[in-house]
Amino acid sequence: MTSPAGGVADRITARRARLERTREAMRTAGIDALLLSIGADLPWLSGYEAMPLERPTVLLVPLDDDPTLVVPVLEAPRVDTTGELFGLRPWGETEDAVGIVADLIGRRSHLAFSDRAFAGLLVDLLAALPHATISKASVVMGPLRAVKDNTEVAALRAAGAAADEVSAALFAGEIALIGRSEHAVSTEIGDRLRQAGHRQVNFAIVASGPNAASPHHEPGARVIAPGETVVCDFGGALSLDGDIAYCSDTTRTVVTGIPDAEIRELYSVLEAAQEAARQAVEPGVSCEAIDATARSMIAAAGFGEYFIHRTGHGIGIEEHEDPYLVEGNAAPVVAGNAFSIEPGIYVPGRYGARIEDIVIATDGGSIACNVADHSLRVVEV
Ligand code: ZN
Ligand code: ZN
Repeated sequence: MTSPAGGVADRITARRARLERTREAMRTAGIDALLLSIGADLPWLSGYEAMPLERPTVLLVPLDDDPTLVVPVLEAPRVDTTGELFGLRPWGETEDAVGIVADLIGRRSHLAFSDRAFAGLLVDLLAALPHATISKASVVMGPLRAVKDNTEVAALRAAGAAADEVSAALFAGEIALIGRSEHAVSTEIGDRLRQAGHRQVNFAIVASGPNAASPHHEPGARVIAPGETVVCDFGGALSLDGDIAYCSDTTRTVVTGIPDAEIRELYSVLEAAQEAARQAVEPGVSCEAIDATARSMIAAAGFGEYFIHRTGHGIGIEEHEDPYLVEGNAAPVVAGNAFSIEPGIYVPGRYGARIEDIVIATDGGSIACNVADHSLRVVEV
């Protein structure tokens, strides 16, 4: 572990390297000014996370000049300018923020703007910059953010380890299931994620019995009974050394009684498919090939029609980001990609199961962010 002081130095070095890579990608894409507002691109590059306010925040990265963060004056005290990665231009309540940004852009005309920012800001900028063409910032940022550097790998591993503590508690029977509502169990899982170090809980799906056949089930009043499958899929965001938080996302399925032969078979197929997909992860393998590895095994066992979603999604500052493990994505995995491996089998009206782990591809094999047990676990509490 690095000390907090080392952490700050490491993250400034990492962000300088990200700025270099961003400029290279801008040059390649023919972009002469990048505009980042709310969303994950801004904290990835600057370390500053803008509140989703109607007051505009824009980090302007010109290809040929230093970056400037245009920020509401009341938000400026939250901006950490250590490392001098960008200049600050606070704007007061009666100033024209869009005009300030337009002036800084000047005659530059090939712009890229945050995909997830407010459309209203974009409309105002377009009106102020009639000469400009605007692309999505993901053209530049997507491939960059998909390759995690060392500080990001450390944060994802810490988030995964914290989520694993909750999985271990679930498997050990420390989280009571039988006789409690899905909602109550979901609340306890969220509390435990926080206790394990997460800054925030993003979701805690608890899907029991027939509800387990709905992959994104909203935990409700249904009381968990003996002899059911219970899918628990949970994640949050964890901040290492006070830096930008990175996400966890893991799923474990348990049974609240001795499983019948059908559930045992379904689960053994799922476990083998998830293991095979994890083993298939290496640089150069296409994203869709990893999906096909899990899918073909599930289909061969006769459950193909019950695996109704992609095998995985990238993860980082956002729960879902590039790359996606889905048929049609022929892009190769590259070292530094972080994504989930999460096949599931869902038999409508009856039961379902899913196993999910986060892995990071490296040149020497993959790193498992989640290492908690996968075996079919009977939890009779
Ligand atoms: Zn999940
Ligand atoms: Zn996931």
